[in-house]
Amino acid sequence: MADAKIIDGKAFAAGLRARVADGVAALKASHGVTPGLAVVLVGEDPASQVYVKSKERALVELGMNSFDHHEAADMAEADLLALIDRLNADPAVHGILVQLPLPKHIDTQKILARIAPEKDADGFHVVNAGLLATGQPGAIVPCTPLGSLLLIRDTLGHDLKGKRALVLGRSNIVGKPMAHLLLQADCTVTLAHSRTVDLAEECRRADILVAAVGRPEMVRGDWIKPGATVIDVGINRVPAADPAAGPGKTRLVGDVAFAEAVKVAGAITPVPGGVGPMTIACLMLNTLAAACRAAGAPIPA
Ligand code: NDP
Repeated sequence: MADAKIIDGKAFAAGLRARVADGVAALKASHGVTPGLAVVLVGEDPASQVYVKSKERALVELGMNSFDHHEAADMAEADLLALIDRLNADPAVHGILVQLPLPKHIDTQKILARIAPEKDADGFHVVNAGLLATGQPGAIVPCTPLGSLLLIRDTLGHDLKGKRALVLGRSNIVGKPMAHLLLQADCTVTLAHSRTVDLAEECRRADILVAAVGRPEMVRGDWIKPGATVIDVGINRVPAADPAAGPGKTRLVGDVAFAEAVKVAGAITPVPGGVGPMTIACLMLNTLAAACRAAGAPIPA
C-alpha cells in the first residue's frame, strides 16, 4: 500500500490567512471597520508568551488591530474581571482571547463566563459551546477543532455523511467540540477517552480518526483502518531521537506514531505542520467573523 497523503496544514493555513486578509480589507472598505482582538496574558508562562506573540504577529500581518494586555502573575481576579468588562464595552474590540492556563488563584471558568459571548474569539464560553452542541447557528467554534474540520473537508470533500469518526480525547477545547462538528457533518461519531474499553479496536473502525490526548505517539499504526484520514492534534515535546542532536535536545511529536501510521492511513497530518498552523488561522477567521457580525456585514464563508 502506498504511503498516506500528507495533509499540509501549513499551506492550507497560509491560504486561509490570505482569505482572511482579503476579508479584513473588504470590511474596512465597506464599513470602515478594522477587526480587533484583545489578547490577555496573565503571568510569565514561557509557552503562553510564545503563543501570544505569534497571535499578535498574525493579527498585524492580516491588517487587524491587536490590543495587547500583558498583566502581572499576581493580578487579582477582580482586576481581571474588570479588564474583561472594559473590553466587552469597547466597540473597537471585536474579539477577546484570554490565554490559558491562568494562574491558580484565578477561577478560569469565571473569567471565560465574563467574556461577552459575541466577543468570545476562542469559542470557550458556555453559550457558544451550547449553540454548537445543540446545532444552532451563530456559534463561535473553538479554533483547533474548526481547523481540523477544514482539513478533513479539504481532504475528503465537503460531504462527510455516514462516515465513522472517532475522536480520541474529550476536553472542552478540542475533543467535545470536534465531536459536535463531525456529528453536524452527519458522521457517526464515537468520543473516546481514558476510560474507553479496547481503544485500539474502536480506532480501527474509524474512517476519520482525530487524536487529541496529549500522549506522545500513543496511537499505533495497527490501530488505524487502512485508508483512514488521521488528524493528529497532539503536540508533545520529547527527547530528540538522534543522540547526535546532543543532550537536552528535544523534538515535537503528535499523539499518533507517524512513521507507522503513514504506512496505513489514506491521509495524515504531520506534527509539526498539520493542525498547529490552523489554530491561529482559525482564530483570525473567528475575529473577522465577530467584526463582520458587529458591523452587520456578511460573514465570509
Ligand atoms: P486534555 O488534557 O484537556 O484532554 C486529554 C484527553 O485525552 C482527555 O479527555 C483524556 O481522557 C484523554 N486521554 C488521556 N490519556 C488517555 C489515554 N491513555 N487513553 C485514552 N484517552 C486518554 O488535552 P487537550 O484536549 O487540551 O489537548 C490534547 C492534545 O492536543 C495535547 O497534546 C495538546 O498539546 C494538543 N493541542 C494542540 C493544539 C493545536 O493547536 N494543535 C491546541 C490544543 C491542544 P479523560 O477525559 O478520561 O481524562
